[in-house]
Amino acid sequence: MPIAAGVIAELEKLGYRACVIPLERLTALENEYRAITSREVWRNSPHLSRHHFDFAPPPDFPARSVLIVAAPVTPVKLGFTRHGRHYAFEVPPLSADHDVDLERIVAAVTSLITPHGYGLIDANVPTKLLASHAGLLENGYNNMGFIEGMGSFFRLSAFFSDMPPGTAVWTEHRVSRSCEVCRACSESCPTGCLGPDGYDVGRCLSLLSKEASDFPEWVHSRWHNSLIGCRICQQVCPMNRELLDTAGTGAEFSETETGAILAGTPFEDLDPATRDKLRYFHLNTYYNILPRNLRLLLDREQADLS
Ligand code: SF4
Ligand code: SF4
Repeated sequence: MPIAAGVIAELEKLGYRACVIPLERLTALENEYRAITSREVWRNSPHLSRHHFDFAPPPDFPARSVLIVAAPVTPVKLGFTRHGRHYAFEVPPLSADHDVDLERIVAAVTSLITPHGYGLIDANVPTKLLASHAGLLENGYNNMGFIEGMGSFFRLSAFFSDMPPGTAVWTEHRVSRSCEVCRACSESCPTGCLGPDGYDVGRCLSLLSKEASDFPEWVHSRWHNSLIGCRICQQVCPMNRELLDTAGTGAEFSETETGAILAGTPFEDLDPATRDKLRYFHLNTYYNILPRNLRLLLDREQADLS
């Protein structure tokens, strides 16, 4: 079996999905990525314009291929208590558990390729676009990637390697066939950003929710549905049907902790236990917007109760 196929098969046994792409594909990918990011909406977004990728390996590493690995993640909610009532809100499924996955992935791949004289190093490339071209994921009408058995709940990691890429698939980056007979996401999207012409990133609440600037006036306060981002089009998607039932509450924030976050207490002044929980779910990186977003969700819930 070619070594790339062996790596993919081994990772699959461990519950991951992977593809190995010839390094030469990165030239076309860079042109495609530049075309996408040259659009005004991309340049004007503080969040999107922060994305920077390296389309070539370091000069001292003789890379021949790019390995992309998808690791499943569990949908998660966080619990908050305010005025004696408990609430649970969705967050992006990012947690420190992924660090464990990364260690397993690197250990498994290294043990397979090192005896053949090959190695791997981290790569900072547009993983979703690469995975779409390589057939590792399907691209939803809502611009989310979907993988069979994982739905949209996975994280992608990328590595440069000097192992040969084998017979890699390379297909057009296009919307999944599953979407041809379904428009559940566009029918439920609150902002109307999934119109007949496709996805309009400038109207996506998922992105707007990550910006520290005020929401545009046309964003209705009732549309907020997640601590960070927006989950609606993933919740209604048939490709996620069985996965959302697995969502659990990952951590609880007491009345005192909730109050401290709402008050905008500087991160370093929060109770250490609060900081640890936020760090575990990678919310320290979003702490500048967390108090605002939490307040919006709590106010919406309390308005529903009154
Ligand atoms: S909800 Fe339907 S149209 Fe939207 S991404 Fe999922 S399958 Fe595609
Ligand atoms: S994330 Fe929200 S705003 Fe963006 S497309 Fe999905 S439902 Fe619409």
